[in-house]
Amino acid sequence: MATDLTRPAHAAPDWIIPQDWHSYSPEEHAVWDLLFARQAEMLPARVAPAFMEGLDVLRMTKPGIPDFDELNERLFRATGWQVVAVPGLVPDEMFFEHLANRRFVAGRFIRTPGQLDYLQEPDIFHDVFGHVPLLVHPVFADYMQAYGEGGLRAAKLGMIEALSRLYWYTVEFGLIRVGSDLKLYGAGIVSSYGESIFALDDASPNRIGFDLERVMRTRYRIDDYQQNYFVIDSFEDLLRQTRDADLGPIYDRLRDLDAIDVGQLLPSDQVLHAGTQRYARARA
Ligand code: FE
Repeated sequence: MATDLTRPAHAAPDWIIPQDWHSYSPEEHAVWDLLFARQAEMLPARVAPAFMEGLDVLRMTKPGIPDFDELNERLFRATGWQVVAVPGLVPDEMFFEHLANRRFVAGRFIRTPGQLDYLQEPDIFHDVFGHVPLLVHPVFADYMQAYGEGGLRAAKLGMIEALSRLYWYTVEFGLIRVGSDLKLYGAGIVSSYGESIFALDDASPNRIGFDLERVMRTRYRIDDYQQNYFVIDSFEDLLRQTRDADLGPIYDRLRDLDAIDVGQLLPSDQVLHAGTQRYARARA
C-alpha cells in the first residue's frame, strides 16, 4: 500500500493520465505478445474458468497492448467497470476511491524484454492481463467495488494494513475451488509464469481454506513466491464473507492480536495442503 506519494505534474487531481496508446513502440507491443502467448498456452488448465471467459468477452486475444478505450467499451457493457491509466502507485485513499466507483487503476508502461519474469513495480501486463478479465465476472466485479468501499472505511479506522492483506491473499494471490480442483484467480499469480505453476503444483507453500480474520492477520511477502495461498469456495462466498461482514468487531479483535508470520500454520486452520516450505528455506 502506498503512502506519502507526490502526484506527478502531468497527472490529474484524481491521478489519472492518458494511456496515449499510439505512443507504444512495436517492441513494447511485442513484449505484451510474448507474455500473453506464454500465459495463454499455460493457463487454460490452471485458471478459474471465469478468467478465460473474461479474456474472450474483452477480446484480449487480439495482438498488442490493449487500447483502454476499446477495452473499456466491452468492459463497461459487461459490468460497468473501466480501466484508467495512472503514473504508478497512487495513495491508498485514491486507490480505494477509484475501486469504489468501479475504476481499476493500471500502469501504462510495460516491462522490458530483460524483465519478463521479474519486476518490482506492477506494469500494464500485470495490471491489465492479470486483473481486468475477472472484472467481467459480475460477482467478482461487485467484490472489487465492495473492497474499495471497505478500504475507505478502513482508512478512517486506521486498519488499512489488515485490509491490504485481504487484497493480497485474494485479488493478488487467491486460489479458488472448482469442483474437486484448485484453480488460480489472483492477478499476481496469473500474470507470472513461474508462480502459475508453483502456486498449484509445488509442495512448498501452504494451501489453506479462506478465513477472513485469519487472512487479515497474516503477513505476506512481496519479494518472492508466497508461502501461503488461501482458497475460496466461490466468488459468491468471498463477497458474502467480506461485503456483508461487520468488520468493526473483527478490527477490534485484530488490534489486540499479533500478526501471523508467513508460512505459519495454526491449529484452527482448514489445511488443504501443509507446505514443506522447502522453496522458501532454500531461498532464505
Ligand atoms: Fe496487482
